[in-house]
Amino acid sequence: SPPGKRVGFAIVGLGHLALEEVLPAFAQSRFARPVALVSGDGNKAQSVAAQYGIAPKALYSYDDFDRIAHNKQVEVIYIILPNSMHAEFTERAAKAGKHVLCEKPMATSVAECERMIAACRTAKVRLMIAYRSQYEPIDRAIAKMAQSGQLGALREFIAGNSQRQGDVNQWRHRKALAGGGALPDIGLYCLNAARFLSGEEPTEVMARVWSPPGDARFTEVEAAVRFTMTFPSGFAATAVSSYDSHESRFFRLQGTDAWAGMNPAFAYEGLKMQSARLMDGHDTLIEPHFPAANQFARELDHMARCVRENRIPHTPGEEGLQDHRIMEAIYQSAREGRVVTI
Ligand code: NDP
Repeated sequence: SPPGKRVGFAIVGLGHLALEEVLPAFAQSRFARPVALVSGDGNKAQSVAAQYGIAPKALYSYDDFDRIAHNKQVEVIYIILPNSMHAEFTERAAKAGKHVLCEKPMATSVAECERMIAACRTAKVRLMIAYRSQYEPIDRAIAKMAQSGQLGALREFIAGNSQRQGDVNQWRHRKALAGGGALPDIGLYCLNAARFLSGEEPTEVMARVWSPPGDARFTEVEAAVRFTMTFPSGFAATAVSSYDSHESRFFRLQGTDAWAGMNPAFAYEGLKMQSARLMDGHDTLIEPHFPAANQFARELDHMARCVRENRIPHTPGEEGLQDHRIMEAIYQSAREGRVVTI
């Protein structure tokens, strides 16, 4: 679309994801453009605004954010703040009459998710959670294979998403800001993929969390989570996610006839698909090639089109809420040492 027809986005929080991935991705989007910035650092906001051609009068601090209601160019507010701030800024954005795109994890509790959904419903604005993998063509191809029966009956999903998290001063290590450790930050990718690839919802979960004793990074949040979700069809999903191992980013979805997977999965780029089935007694592996896609640009465009076409996003608030219900069950299972029903 020409610039004047594109949907205007305000970016809230100018951290790593916003500066290194989201803002650059607008160049590859077709329907979205950045028109405002919200930051606690006025100098940084000014230099980023100059870089992206954003008007100096379209810069806001967290305190004067509510003035954004009067900026007609802003149609969507994209929240890229620490997790504990998602609920507050979603509610304030909805009050300002703006649609909301919110980073994952949606919030830090089920209760916050419910408040966010209610606020957007009351204000009659759209709410989308930025589950970028659900906009990735390879993930979508595997979901289609699985749900059209090409793998046979689904049996197991096995996944890992682990990376070392070094900086003890990061908000990710503070429970009040992050809500949890590896689980809501990176384990969530495994959890959400099991659901959207299979198209099924788990009914039971069994989990353990673990942290290396005496490690200052993990006094408030877990280093690692290991969990198994079971689904009524007999399908089960097992995942391991850690802030303290180097490293994994993969999944494999196994059915009675074939498997399909990604390694690497969950990353921003360089993703690869693998799949194999038995043919005439031989295991045939295929590695289909997909043209590279920018997940962030696809996500921005999906939200922009939902706004223009008055449609509910593919990953609405309810998608985030369901993941938070499951994450709360995972923590409960780890605490109580038993299977928890969802
Ligand atoms: P960063 O720490 O790099 O950035 C967060 C930004 O939030 C800061 O730069 C700051 O922006 C603002 N902020 C406001 N208050 C605080 C505070 N008390 N402490 C720290 N920052 C604050 O985080 P990320 O960019 O890595 O993550 C932001 C969000 O994006 C999280 O919810 C995370 O889960 C999600 N994320 C999603 C990814 C994905 O692939 N979808 C990947 C990475 C993150 P300013 O200086 O402008 O005020």
